[in-house]
Amino acid sequence: MLDDAFTEVIDRDPATGLSSDPATGHPRPPRREFKARGSLVRRCAGCNLPALNCLCPYRVGAESTARVWLLTHPLEHHKPTNTGRLIRDVLPDTEVFTWYRTAPDERLLALLADSRYAPFVVFPDDQPDYAESVVGMDAVAVEKVHGRIPVFIILDGTWRQCRRIFRKSPYLDSLPVLPLATERLTRYRLRKPASAAHLCTAEVAAELLTQSGDVTAGEVLDDYFDVFNDSYAASRRFEKLETPTAAMRRLRSRQADA
Ligand SMILES: [Zn+2]
Repeated sequence: MLDDAFTEVIDRDPATGLSSDPATGHPRPPRREFKARGSLVRRCAGCNLPALNCLCPYRVGAESTARVWLLTHPLEHHKPTNTGRLIRDVLPDTEVFTWYRTAPDERLLALLADSRYAPFVVFPDDQPDYAESVVGMDAVAVEKVHGRIPVFIILDGTWRQCRRIFRKSPYLDSLPVLPLATERLTRYRLRKPASAAHLCTAEVAAELLTQSGDVTAGEVLDDYFDVFNDSYAASRRFEKLETPTAAMRRLRSRQADA
């Protein structure tokens, strides 16, 4: 989940070279021209990042007891700065559903009705009207004891979009609500948060996995998120990362061990 006030730090591709335009006093170029130029940025077909610092060499799969299902707002779905997609790279069982208010995903409804799974909606417990549904991480442990697969349903969008998804999806109403309790501050640098306490989607998932006992999966996702963050930010500065970061080295050594 992202804050409403999250804005792209740079809302265009580095290769356009148009970002500092207002400082020169020249009028902004027409949108059509911007798009045409922006499309010239070479992106990796595998990870959709600018090819200058590609994420693919650091992709590492992990195993987890818990699963993640993303309910992604349609406007968030294709943004290259979206971090939800990183979760599926690490955990192949991750399900991604696009949220439409009037047309619930049939496959999601079927999965919610499947008794093998114990789904939790991850959402803050800051409103009184659903206080009775709020549970803690101990409820996740209980489901594991009963042999069910805990599922974290993470709403993927801005805060405003997530509140809308939460309020306008009747099929979520009967599910337990799991607020994420953490002191962690966001490390996400591609959009500007209004508050450092607001984590992005991949960070929320990493934190949930770690807290519920899938420690390795949480660590891998955390490292993969850091590499994504650093790689993308460097590409925006036109900078090629020559020296591997600590997270890059850890992921590489996991690949070597696999
Ligand atoms: Zn790539």
